[in-house]
Amino acid sequence: MPDVAIAGAGLAGCLLATLLARRGIEVTVYERREDPRVTAPERGRSINLAISARGLEALGQVGLREQALSRALPMHGRMVHSRDGQQSFRPYSADGTHAINSISRAELNLALLEVAERTRGVCVRFGHRLTELDMATGELSFETAGGQRAVPASTVRAGIVLAADGAWSAARRSVTFRQGFTFSQDYLQHGYKELTVPARDGEFALDPDALHIWPRGSSMMIALPNLDRSFTCTLFWTGAEFAALRDGDQIRGHFRQEYPDVAGLIPDLVDDYLHNPVGSLATIRCWPWVHQGAGAVLALVGDAAHAIVPFYGQGANCALEDCIEIDRCLAESNGDWAAALAGYQQRRKANCDAIAEMALDNFIEMRDRVNSRVFQAKTAARHALQRRLAGHYVSQYELVSFSTVPYAQIQDRIRRQDLVTALAAAGVGGLGVALAAAAGRITRRSSR
Ligand SMILES: Cc1cc2nc3c(=O)[nH]c(=O)nc-3n(C[C@H](O)[C@H](O)[C@H](O)COP(=O)(O)OP(=O)(O)OC[C@H]3O[C@@H](n4cnc5c(N)ncnc54)[C@H](O)[C@@H]3O)c2cc1C
Repeated sequence: MPDVAIAGAGLAGCLLATLLARRGIEVTVYERREDPRVTAPERGRSINLAISARGLEALGQVGLREQALSRALPMHGRMVHSRDGQQSFRPYSADGTHAINSISRAELNLALLEVAERTRGVCVRFGHRLTELDMATGELSFETAGGQRAVPASTVRAGIVLAADGAWSAARRSVTFRQGFTFSQDYLQHGYKELTVPARDGEFALDPDALHIWPRGSSMMIALPNLDRSFTCTLFWTGAEFAALRDGDQIRGHFRQEYPDVAGLIPDLVDDYLHNPVGSLATIRCWPWVHQGAGAVLALVGDAAHAIVPFYGQGANCALEDCIEIDRCLAESNGDWAAALAGYQQRRKANCDAIAEMALDNFIEMRDRVNSRVFQAKTAARHALQRRLAGHYVSQYELVSFSTVPYAQIQDRIRRQDLVTALAAAGVGGLGVALAAAAGRITRRSSR
């Protein structure tokens, strides 16, 4: 059996290691960071994540679903904040019962890491930053000590390398200039910066049952609740907007004007604003995800294969779904790696392209369209339809967030639903019958 190495002990790397080891495959995971149990979390990565049906289903495969839910805060809808401080709640699902779940990224990663480490056959090596992968020999080179210390090199060999080392994957770099490899990274003009609304008198300062949005046309701020009753706010602004505010007076003045109902809830506003980094946001598309070299096979997984912008809260959900697909393909191919990885990339690519587009589109919805009365009326009408035609008409948001219907099938299904609804509204045929025929009942399915 070939030696299997995973680059990156993030969400995907840890889940994948556990799933492989459960199949009797020994795997070594190399993680650039030091052990998170003995070091402080890095500044600049998102503090919390929204996990929904796909992520929960994947976590369920390694017994973490209930634990994750018990450490998460459900958000049943969006709370939209207008410039005059008005708030309006918009449920995510027609019946108001479905929620996405705000969870600490660090805690979720740690839970996945601990499950991986407890699984026989998994070995995690922290402080190993992959610097190079030689596809001809299967050699992986690492920097094994960071900071100001000397950097001794370390080299290992692996026949199978699974790159779960994130959007800026070092493993992917080894194939960047290969004949036939297509790669693009499209940066948004917008970056992100996080701020904190702490608990007020021990309580949440905003409604914890919602994902809060301050849509401001070309940009926005959002806030997700944390278990310690704080909120993490994320500004999605252009570089020019960030650069325009240079001192305390400008920052406070801008927040009082644009986000009046929250400006007074962020005591460290100026300090956070001036010192927290601006993260970049990009969509990364590439193909193929699987590469055969003389010494190793490389497969890209999660953000390393398809980083997306965070506006549908699906990047992590999608990365975890990838791992489930690899595991399923290995089962179907009786452990034949070549067949399994070929099947994995074939099944996942269109799905990941689809969610990448939906995520980009959702940015416009969140920062702008939610303000429009037409948009609000359409959403309300769709929810009303959904309640009447339970199971036959399902909104895009619900298909993405509350089902495991393959992402690539969603747009098509929405188009059919919309067409039939329009025809029915125009008086052609019985609405219920037509919708049932065109859309079909929604069933819980795998991501194939
Ligand atoms: C602001 C923001 C908000 C987001 N919100 C959501 C959300 O609400 N819901 C959601 O589902 N997704 C969200 N995402 C997306 C989500 O964070 C990613 O899609 C997800 O983390 C991808 O998982 P991954 O394991 O592929 O990569 P990562 O989580 O990036 O893990 C990669 C791992 O590899 C390690 N690594 C990197 N380079 C090397 C190297 N050279 N050698 C060894 N190890 C290395 C890293 O330290 C890390 O541990 C958000 C992203 C951002 C930026």
